[in-house]
Amino acid sequence: MTEETTAHPHYDIAIIGGGPAGFTAGMYAARAALKTIAIAGDSTVSQVTITDLIENYPGIPDGINGFDLAERFKAQAVQFGLQTTSGDVTAIGRKKIGAWDGWEVVAGSIRYDALAVIIATGALWRRLGVPGEERFIGKGVSFCATCDGPFYRNREVAVVGGGDTAIQEALYLTRFAKKVTVIHRRDRLRATAILQKRALENEKIVFAWNSVVEAIEGENLVQKIVLKDVKSGATRELSADGIFIFIGLTPNTAPFRELVALDQGGYVTVDAHMQTSAAGIFACGDCTAKRLRQVVTACGDGATAAFSAQLYCEDLKGESY
Ligand SMILES: Cc1cc2nc3c(=O)[nH]c(=O)nc-3n(C[C@H](O)[C@H](O)[C@H](O)COP(=O)(O)OP(=O)(O)OC[C@H]3O[C@@H](n4cnc5c(N)ncnc54)[C@H](O)[C@@H]3O)c2cc1C
Repeated sequence: MTEETTAHPHYDIAIIGGGPAGFTAGMYAARAALKTIAIAGDSTVSQVTITDLIENYPGIPDGINGFDLAERFKAQAVQFGLQTTSGDVTAIGRKKIGAWDGWEVVAGSIRYDALAVIIATGALWRRLGVPGEERFIGKGVSFCATCDGPFYRNREVAVVGGGDTAIQEALYLTRFAKKVTVIHRRDRLRATAILQKRALENEKIVFAWNSVVEAIEGENLVQKIVLKDVKSGATRELSADGIFIFIGLTPNTAPFRELVALDQGGYVTVDAHMQTSAAGIFACGDCTAKRLRQVVTACGDGATAAFSAQLYCEDLKGESY
């Protein structure tokens, strides 16, 4: 912990993350009359905010834009008294708060003292690590079809990946692009059956099976993608104006590596109550080790984490009954 940091009044609960998990945890904690602050990242955004249409969140049968849904989550939590701020949290350390063993959360030059901490930092899309990828980010390489799809009206794009998100985004891109090539390293998709069916039946979508990206090339903008057939080893060029990469997530858990147990993929391991390996530290949402990373599961986790943190605080203060 640095000496120059600015102390804030202490909180019952500090939540790290301003996505569905963090704001749902914030709503539950604030509604339980716990003094709670949510710190949303400065250099990262909630994944839900880059999603065009959420059509599988219960109670909204017509679907909702991801950014709008995130704003609603925040407003609902704030209405119950959640305090919010922004900053990239870089460390959490032990801190004596009065008679209690609490925690100190450091975000830039500011530190927040809390009895319990909820980690809700989500995850970010993985990179291919091929030549041209970094150089052409924003010039044809994208990780967000919602943000960049409209730039590709009547043009040809590629989508890398075979899971739910890759196929969902490929389908979305057909609204703009005249041709969408799905590049997948296997000969079949991993996406759920309904999405597979929609993609296979969509005449704008073609598949480059058993293929991996070797390089992304162009002059100022992406013009072509070099593909390698994983079976034959043969390479070929695919003409494309854009490439959308959806090959998996990396959890935003680096600052907590020494603090709580992580699984092999770097996800925070939690029990059914969202308790981590450290007493008083809870985690929820996409940053945790779990099978389904969606808005609805992030919200459910957030509610559980807040309730567990509430019980932990009450126990610590001798207020439990
Ligand atoms: C393209 C796309 C389409 C999707 N489609 C759907 C869909 O149709 N339906 C669905 O249910 N889900 C969908 N998802 C998944 C959904 O967006 C996530 O499951 C959900 O956002 C997870 O919520 P979360 O709160 O765990 O994490 P996030 O929403 O990612 O929020 C993480 C928060 O933590 C913050 N943060 C990160 N690191 C730090 C740090 N060091 N310090 C402080 N703050 C930090 C970030 O800034 C952010 O505020 C989609 C995702 C993408 C990318």
